[in-house]
Amino acid sequence: MSIWVPELLSPAGSLEKLKVAMWYGADACYLGGQKFGLRSAADNFNEEELKEALEFAHSRNKLVYVVLNSFLHDEELKELPEFLKLLEEVKVDAVICSDLGVVQTVRKHSDLVVHLSTQASCLNADAARFWKDQGVKRIVLGREVAIADAKKIKDKVDIELEMFVHGSMCMAYSGNCVISNYTQGRDSNRGGCAHSCRFEYSLAEKESEEYKKAYFMSSKDLEGIRVLQDFIDAGIDSLKVEGRMKTHHYVGTISKVYSEALSHYKNNGNFLSSQLEEWERELRKVGHRDYTNASLIEKAGPDSVFNEREHMENEYVVGGVILEKGDDYTLVEVRSPFTPNDEIEIIPFHGKNVTLQNNQLMDVAGEVLEKTRPGMILKLPYIEQAQSFNLIRVRTRP
Ligand code: SF4
Repeated sequence: MSIWVPELLSPAGSLEKLKVAMWYGADACYLGGQKFGLRSAADNFNEEELKEALEFAHSRNKLVYVVLNSFLHDEELKELPEFLKLLEEVKVDAVICSDLGVVQTVRKHSDLVVHLSTQASCLNADAARFWKDQGVKRIVLGREVAIADAKKIKDKVDIELEMFVHGSMCMAYSGNCVISNYTQGRDSNRGGCAHSCRFEYSLAEKESEEYKKAYFMSSKDLEGIRVLQDFIDAGIDSLKVEGRMKTHHYVGTISKVYSEALSHYKNNGNFLSSQLEEWERELRKVGHRDYTNASLIEKAGPDSVFNEREHMENEYVVGGVILEKGDDYTLVEVRSPFTPNDEIEIIPFHGKNVTLQNNQLMDVAGEVLEKTRPGMILKLPYIEQAQSFNLIRVRTRP
């Protein structure tokens, strides 16, 4: 039995994160080049990295989309055709645009497939039809659209639709927020968002001297694992995970959970509640704000506000990455310090995590360690389920 399921599209803030996402099951990744994208602080891809990313993905039948989702002035738009040549040369599978001028420039100067970014806030069938007429092949709907309404758009307009399934949310319509511009002098719509919606603000009733501290503009994080069936029934073509700025741990864990869930459905035609609970437990091991369905089922309301100070630091971190496995050993490159008393688990590409028991930590010279250091190579005993590039998760605050 094989049932249709949507593409799983994960963020790639760097070449290594792209590989992690794809090893852990993402069908496609989106990433930014050095210019024209909205995450100026991300570790954006240079030409060599772009080539390697495309070769890596295509050799595994996976796809790569490049974001060109900044809103551009005329001067910047002039530089775009040169960059498009590079994207065509490396055989990028699509570009993700928000600005109508960018869409038209891409169409005029290249044969690249165009996806419309969520930044364009497409919410209805008429807008979808307009973008289709502009040559857009896929629309990433605004995050305010419910799955049921997305289905209506799909029924009226024959166009690919992509929706966010997981990750941080904006409190404003994407592409229309200027809080960061006015509070920090950083332009949200041109790559500079300072996340001003997450700050603490003082509120006072009119004519009152009494101020109340609040984080009233900060949204909870989206989690769509419980509504995967609705996405499938609505025929949504691609499910997107937010987070080009997030960690390897996040990218690997989220890609694995959603790809396992989708594969399970593909093979069995159901999501059993016991499995959903297990997947949810995994989703709670990565740094996150409280989770919400946001507007996927009903319009997001006051209960979708995360009215708390950020506490994104996480008790689980990537302690290391498996380099190789020999006949009687497993080599690990350490990424974060940990001790033999910490809870250590290997995250295989498929299947259950493997918890390491009675950990004795040794370096390659055989010296027993009280604590690891980032960058060192650790020699662990042979671990049957381990494979090169598996992440090792460590719980630092049991
Ligand atoms: S300030 Fe917040 S709501 Fe505005 S663009 Fe940035 S993350 Fe989104």
